[in-house]
Amino acid sequence: MKRKVAFYTLGCKLNYAETSSLGRMMEERGYQKVPFHEPADIYIINTCSVTDNADKKCRKVVREAQKISPEAYICIVGCYAQLKPKEIAEIPGVDAVLGAAEKFRLLDLLDGFKKTQLPQVLASDISEAYEFHYAFSWQDRTRTFLKVQDGCNYHCTFCTIPLARGKSRSDSVANVLSAAREIAQTEVKEVVLTGVNIGDFGITNGKRQSRFIDLVEALDEVEGIDRFRISSIEPNLLSNEIIEFVARSQRFVPHFHIPLQSGSNKILRLMRRRYLRELYVDRVEKIKQLMPHACIGVDVIVGFPGETDEDFLETYQFLNELPVSYLHVFTYSERDHTPAALMEGVVPQKVRTQRSKMLRILSEKKRRHFYEDNIGRQYTVLFEDDVEEGYMHGFTENYIRVSAPYDPLLINELRPVKLLQVDDKGKMQVEETVPAYEIHK
Ligand code: SF4
Repeated sequence: MKRKVAFYTLGCKLNYAETSSLGRMMEERGYQKVPFHEPADIYIINTCSVTDNADKKCRKVVREAQKISPEAYICIVGCYAQLKPKEIAEIPGVDAVLGAAEKFRLLDLLDGFKKTQLPQVLASDISEAYEFHYAFSWQDRTRTFLKVQDGCNYHCTFCTIPLARGKSRSDSVANVLSAAREIAQTEVKEVVLTGVNIGDFGITNGKRQSRFIDLVEALDEVEGIDRFRISSIEPNLLSNEIIEFVARSQRFVPHFHIPLQSGSNKILRLMRRRYLRELYVDRVEKIKQLMPHACIGVDVIVGFPGETDEDFLETYQFLNELPVSYLHVFTYSERDHTPAALMEGVVPQKVRTQRSKMLRILSEKKRRHFYEDNIGRQYTVLFEDDVEEGYMHGFTENYIRVSAPYDPLLINELRPVKLLQVDDKGKMQVEETVPAYEIHK
């Protein structure tokens, strides 16, 4: 009988892609993958260091796994495992902790997942994590997250990712192309390019071998994938060349997610970001000039040390005036071993929460405005296997979430639609512009 393994992922798309790949790797070696809520012999928990209360969340998932299968082997991997291996090993029930350099070698390192008296901790120094491990997610047949880059050479003062994932490194363009061709053989219609700092794509063995633009231009030629989406790209790396390329491309969709983090130059300097607000405006203007209906998402952090009411209002006004489509708001929280954690001007928690709330409301306003601005326009929707109260959902090229009456034949289909109106739940209602029989004949 095959031994059963179950996975749980905390954190970002990159973690999902990696969990998915670990799962396939174990299936190839004779294990049977089962959902997390089912009894298993082994549980692998892929952790994140960015989420708040990483420790609490990790403990909770371990307890959950123990409840389902009290005798199971429990192994913790991921960013939090790299940052705090000893603390994690002390969590009751944990059998092994693997760091960034070890996680893809778990089958060789953990000797058949036999329980030992003390938990095994295998987490080398982060400088050992220099190899690139290719990964892609396989959650549904509609979309996949393809990891093209890992690690980061920047030193933003609030961020633990370089400590958890190591230096910037990537696969070669040729290897990413062969992964894309593999995906093209499946039913997947959309590939989301994922990484820690994907604009920095192209460093292999410490040397720059290519640039992100080389990768996207090459991927554009791969037959069998309808859409490519760039997940998130630093503003200083989003060159005119990349924007102009997306504007020309039939496959790369007009959707950009660009971290801003603050609209105050004073805070950007304290964060040690590599741009000022003027550059950000310039990037947004360039996109809108070439693709007026492109979707632009923004990451922003509130409550960074030193952020006064005036600095926050500067950010608020800045975002209010920019033609961006939605915000991902993060409330700053102190992380061990980061320069920001030692900075003066700590913002009280209550103020952080209030600022975060203000920006979330602004985000909703922005999103609605962006949706309404697109009413009457025609797009192509990729429908997903996501049904709610008789309705299914999907996204347009420019990331508008649409809602249509459920039709199983539409799942994983690209359909031309006209955007009609935004309903009271904030979803876009659509009408199909080509009758179903035309599509299915
Ligand atoms: S660019 Fe800055 S915030 Fe992003 S991963 Fe690198 S160090 Fe962290």
